[in-house]
Amino acid sequence: MEKCLFCEIAEKRIDSKIVYEDEKVVAFKDIYPQAPVHVLIIPKKHISGVTSLEEGDRELVGHMFIVSQQLAKDFSVYQCGFRLIVNSGPDAGQAVDHIHMHLLGGRTLQWPPG
Ligand code: 5GP
Ligand code: ZN
Repeated sequence: MEKCLFCEIAEKRIDSKIVYEDEKVVAFKDIYPQAPVHVLIIPKKHISGVTSLEEGDRELVGHMFIVSQQLAKDFSVYQCGFRLIVNSGPDAGQAVDHIHMHLLGGRTLQWPPG
């Protein structure tokens, strides 16, 4: 398989600002932050995107949401609010083919998104 950027980040072969890690997931700061808080939560397992999820990934996906709660607390947006985004495919602008959840916050976010 071709080298995957986020697998490389998870394996710490490429530098990133890791803010959380456990046996299943890694969270790190987005290199081009779109808000004062912009963190990406990824599974350590390579899954290319939402459309590649399998039944056996249910717990992992749920875990990503639970981890987002802790990160929201850590970055002081738990009370004021934050947004979780998972882009899928070209129309959504998915740029990295390793499933990732964006956690955005620290400012008022517009709705609908662009
Ligand atoms: P997508 O558009 O696929 O939903 O989001 C990919 C995100 O990955 C973008 O927000 C982009 O800024 C971020 N990103 C791309 N390359 C890197 C990198 O090398 N390091 C980090 N920390 N973030 C990256
Ligand atoms: Zn990967």
